[in-house]
Amino acid sequence: MPLIIDSHQDLAWNMLTYGRDYTRPVEETRRLEAGTITPELNGDSILGWPEYQRGQVAVVFATLYVTPARKKMAGDVIMYADYESAHRLYREQILLYRKLTDSHPDKFRHISSRKELDSVIEHWSGPAHALRGEGHPVGLIYLMEGADGIRSPHELGEWWDMGLRMIGLAWAGTRYCGGTGDPGPLTKEGRQLISAMADFNFMLDLSHMDEAAALESLDRYEGPVMATHANCAALMQGAETNRHLPDRVIRGLIERDGVIGVIPLNTFLKVGWLRKNGSRREEVPLDVLIAHIEHICQLAGDANHAAIGSDFDGGFGLQSIPPELDSIADLQLIASRLIARGYGESDAANVLGGNWLRFLREHLPA
Ligand SMILES: [Zn+2]
Repeated sequence: MPLIIDSHQDLAWNMLTYGRDYTRPVEETRRLEAGTITPELNGDSILGWPEYQRGQVAVVFATLYVTPARKKMAGDVIMYADYESAHRLYREQILLYRKLTDSHPDKFRHISSRKELDSVIEHWSGPAHALRGEGHPVGLIYLMEGADGIRSPHELGEWWDMGLRMIGLAWAGTRYCGGTGDPGPLTKEGRQLISAMADFNFMLDLSHMDEAAALESLDRYEGPVMATHANCAALMQGAETNRHLPDRVIRGLIERDGVIGVIPLNTFLKVGWLRKNGSRREEVPLDVLIAHIEHICQLAGDANHAAIGSDFDGGFGLQSIPPELDSIADLQLIASRLIARGYGESDAANVLGGNWLRFLREHLPA
């Protein structure tokens, strides 16, 4: 079974908003939350450490994410109304991850360098620990989603020292660029920020960026570019959102040897699918997600740029994903589906984890 590297999970946001404990199995979290408002607001959890083990999920891009107050979603308890509080709240999520890795070093490990990455991957490649029933540590790489937590380019060094390696400028629009639901280019501050980010070689996440901002970033940014969680706009014709990646952006990412993680969220797979409107899971079989992977592979002419960024538990859960999936462990099904469509085993393994592994090995500091 290939290793999975999942490029997007809002773990800290869930821990803070819903009190979720990701050392628990999925079943336990669901049982504890049964009868509460949580499954209604955020769906039943699809993430848990035992499921990471079962699905061979070795590395996760763990987000720092805070909702801006002007975009409050049902269930949100922690929001920022100004840049000072954004800064404080984003920072607190790093401290939360630190607490998690310090208290469960056997289960979660922070990755900020190639050496730390290789040590986690090596652990997963050896069977001994698993045979003793101990399992493998899941590596967490910090990814900032929405850069309003950064008050000025001058504090990038501080973030770098705290272990941050990846930054997405947008969620909704930020002071730095146009984002989901807030069209627009990079701002002057956004241009200054990415120019300073390049000095550190931060990985830049184009997900949520408006097309104008994404295209400009592809032209300007001198460091590594990627999309940690986004689907293909070409397969979502008629969707009234700028959330999906236009082919021009996908082509730009491929040219820059970037990687794109696709999202198994039905709303991002079928135009008009909405849980709150009573849409059913069965309407969006897993093959629809496979089509997004194939679209990226078609544009690239190879299987070296498509990957998985599940975004699991990030505002949705079990009720909003393809019916073949019950938890993160089932993402392994994607490999067999690709092989059934004629992809080689190594191509399938690259989509599950190999492409991100190559990207990370190239761009994390030694
Ligand atoms: Zn997101």
